[in-house]
Amino acid sequence: MTTHSPYAAAADLRHQFAGSVLTPDDHGYDGARTIFNAMIDRKPAVIAQCTNTADVRAALAFADRTGLEVAVRGGGHSVAGSSLTEGGLVVDLRRMRSITIDSDAHTAVVEGGATWSDFDRACQPHGLGTTGGRMSSTGVAGLTLGGGSGWFERKFGLACDSLLSVDLVTADGVEIRASEDEHQDLFWALHGGGGNFGVATRLTFRLHPLPVTSLALLFWEAERGPEVLAAYRGLVVPGVTEDLGGAVIYLTGPPEEFVPAELQGKRSVACLGIYAGTAAELRDVLAPMLALQPDGVLLNEMPYCDIQCALDDPPGLRNYWSGEHLVALPDEALRRIDEQGMSMPCPTASQYLLLPWGGAVTAGARNWPQPHRNAEWVVHPFGLWEDAADDAYGISWVRNTIAAMRPYSTGAVYLNFIGDEGMDRVIAGYGQENYARLAAVKMEYDPRNVFHLYHNIHPAAAARRS
Ligand SMILES: Cc1cc2nc3c(=O)[nH]c(=O)nc-3n(C[C@H](O)[C@H](O)[C@H](O)COP(=O)(O)OP(=O)(O)OC[C@H]3O[C@@H](n4cnc5c(N)ncnc54)[C@H](O)[C@@H]3O)c2cc1C
Repeated sequence: MTTHSPYAAAADLRHQFAGSVLTPDDHGYDGARTIFNAMIDRKPAVIAQCTNTADVRAALAFADRTGLEVAVRGGGHSVAGSSLTEGGLVVDLRRMRSITIDSDAHTAVVEGGATWSDFDRACQPHGLGTTGGRMSSTGVAGLTLGGGSGWFERKFGLACDSLLSVDLVTADGVEIRASEDEHQDLFWALHGGGGNFGVATRLTFRLHPLPVTSLALLFWEAERGPEVLAAYRGLVVPGVTEDLGGAVIYLTGPPEEFVPAELQGKRSVACLGIYAGTAAELRDVLAPMLALQPDGVLLNEMPYCDIQCALDDPPGLRNYWSGEHLVALPDEALRRIDEQGMSMPCPTASQYLLLPWGGAVTAGARNWPQPHRNAEWVVHPFGLWEDAADDAYGISWVRNTIAAMRPYSTGAVYLNFIGDEGMDRVIAGYGQENYARLAAVKMEYDPRNVFHLYHNIHPAAAARRS
């Protein structure tokens, strides 16, 4: 299939392309190939900065003609760098970010390169929203197609639970709409199967009323971790209101006014509360945590779009993370969380999060591809540091943390929270049965496995039922 140099062929692509086509000598090429994880440094042959669906189709036809590997780029937050290819073609969607809100129908139509910041800011004036990424620069499509975990998941389910339809361009350039009524199997697969099936150019979401939201961030010195963890488990386990999202987080105290000076730059433990309601209500809900007399307290009403970017990490750091779903949280599990929190690389931007699931995450399961919705808790060691010399320690901290929690794990994992951990983990993320069904959908829509850089589902014919 490879007929001529991709650089020469890129000149052809430019003629039929409304956006920009960058090759390594072009101004802006290096900026355009930079992604969130500074550990990933790959040089694509061509970056096709699409402005519309016709550009996406032209870019995919170009890849077909030249035989270049295809990467699809949205927010650039894949920890494994699945939106970047060495020597291949990047279908870059960052110029496709329009968002249309229908405030009567409570829907949002979102282009494939929009970020959660774009989305939340468009929704805010209407008092509407949905579960979105915990960092506002994450791509809407990348996060949602992988499932989409966020602060309001206990209230609204994962981001994919609010999907109404996805417009997709397949590797052969065919435009398809997947919804409850059209291409139902593909629609099912797009609730967690990630970027395996095509380029999502437009996603339609159901929106939910979110007129008032509040944020609380309570800080203690890290030595108080065991008490904070136990109190948080006691708050959530009896079935705290689904209006409350959040986490217990081990982190380096940031240089913020509400963090006491003695905790800034030091290992700390925090309780984060994100609430669909007033600050007074949030104060009541968090009473058991406030009773532990935090050293620093921020508790305010805040627009949802501001909450969503309040904890944004800077790009340009080195990333390694993983996750595990837990069936239970006995005292020994809390002890291990504390032990790993106390060994987290510090001072760095790393975090170790204990996230409660349940609520609408479990209720919204609907047999979607991710079978682990009944997990009660998720642990997410999120390693971020600056210096390559710290890679060995940071990576081993993440791996040890996950190993320590394995005895309490469902055996599954939420794939958006991990990098490349091998095929067994991908299958564990879906379960054997769902993986086989996804492979059959893949066979129908991408039999050549053109879209293989996200946690790859290999095309395979459906097993015959006897
Ligand atoms: C700082 C940070 C915070 C995060 N927080 C969360 C979180 O709270 N919850 C959560 O669930 N995940 C979270 N993630 C993980 C994130 O959701 C996934 O890595 C997701 O795939 C990123 O999507 P992206 O578009 O930003 O990234 P990209 O690297 O651009 O893309 C990631 C993958 O999605 C595919 N993709 C992107 N856009 C499209 C599209 N339009 N059509 C088809 N395929 C597409 C790409 O091909 C690629 O394989 C976080 C990641 C980071 C770095």
